[in-house]
Amino acid sequence: MSRYTGPVCKLCRRESTKLFLKGEKCTTKCTLDKRQTPPGAARPRRGKTSEYALRLREKQKLRRMSGMNETSFSRRVELASKSPESTGEALLRGLELRLDNVVRRIGFSTSTKTARQLVRHGHIKVGGKVISIPSYTVRPGDVIALDPSLKENTGVKLALENAQKKSTRPSFLEFDEAGLSGKLVRVPDRTEMSFPVNEQLIIEYYSR
Ligand code: SF4
Repeated sequence: MSRYTGPVCKLCRRESTKLFLKGEKCTTKCTLDKRQTPPGAARPRRGKTSEYALRLREKQKLRRMSGMNETSFSRRVELASKSPESTGEALLRGLELRLDNVVRRIGFSTSTKTARQLVRHGHIKVGGKVISIPSYTVRPGDVIALDPSLKENTGVKLALENAQKKSTRPSFLEFDEAGLSGKLVRVPDRTEMSFPVNEQLIIEYYSR
């Protein structure tokens, strides 16, 4: 299945929740604040939601927040199911430690989409080596550095200012302003992860 390239605010309307896919705009001028009906519907849907629909929507929410297609996402779930810890937590930790997500959380970008672009275009180094694979898993002790030539880039500057102003950097990441880099000091726990979902419903969706 290919990656979704349509209007992303539609996805938030479909899930009836903010998925924060547009970076800064999501906090300043969110479409969902003005229009909350699902795409194609004149008014919010009524009636009881089935168990299956609940699980499906939770899965879609997480998949869309992490910007993955169905194939890669289900592969992640399969991988998490082999982990000795709880499958739900292993899944969320795997997504949290993806390089594109870590780049966003350090504050080099305001959305996962732009973070992925930075990675794909070879602007990110991990441990001194260019890594252009967004799904690369960052490990404790890894130093993630941004290409210094992007220091004056408008998008990067805005993202760094935002992260500083709103104190959005988590404590498991150590930011070095002079070196334009961040270090993963430890594995995050569940409360520090970026995804406000019920992971149990997602695992149930895949166990059906
Ligand atoms: Fe979702 Fe952001 Fe669009 Fe709001 S602005 S609907 S949070 S993508």
